[in-house]
Amino acid sequence: MDLVLFGPPGAGKGTQAKFLVDLLEVPQISTGDMMRAERKSGSELGKKFDEYMSAGKLVPDNLVLDLIKSRLMRGDAKNGAIFDGYPRTVAQAEALDALLDELGREIDRVVSLEVPLHEIIERVTGRRVCLDCGQTYHVRYTPPPQNGECVSCGGTKIVQRSDDTEEVVRKRYEEYKAKTEPVLAHYDAKGLVRSVSGVGSLEEITQRIKEATGVG
Ligand SMILES: [Zn+2]
Repeated sequence: MDLVLFGPPGAGKGTQAKFLVDLLEVPQISTGDMMRAERKSGSELGKKFDEYMSAGKLVPDNLVLDLIKSRLMRGDAKNGAIFDGYPRTVAQAEALDALLDELGREIDRVVSLEVPLHEIIERVTGRRVCLDCGQTYHVRYTPPPQNGECVSCGGTKIVQRSDDTEEVVRKRYEEYKAKTEPVLAHYDAKGLVRSVSGVGSLEEITQRIKEATGVG
């Protein structure tokens, strides 16, 4: 199954992507991570990415598509993939459709993980993180210990990240909405989109996603 996973920043998409990898037994394709890895590897494609990225320019769609194509040809992606953070524009969605068509495949499902803005604000602004080990807490749900010592490493630098503010969350959410709505419409016209509420316990959300994929 080839699946696209959408969801605003702070919706818990990363956690659910991992669950989908296990459920569908296909790899997660995160273009951001792949581009960084390729750049580090020093390959020909990586050098091209580097030219654009170090100049602060957007990497052209055709180069990203080359990367996705080579990833899809690898054995573990033969039966499908989970696209995370891609496509971000209608042009990219159309190019991905054409590439999958070449491989005799198509996007089978688009899952849109929906969390209301006020809920994301509550999750993100309540987040605290240990600077030593990265362990995260939430002031209401998983508060840092009273004695101020991190449960994982015993460190005492448990802080709020500077961009975990309501203002930053609102801005990212609006950007996400503006960017992804046309892409969702592209897939919705094909009847592929399933909206899933991302509010509730982890198990509840996972169960909803399972139903939305029609697997298991
Ligand atoms: Zn720690």
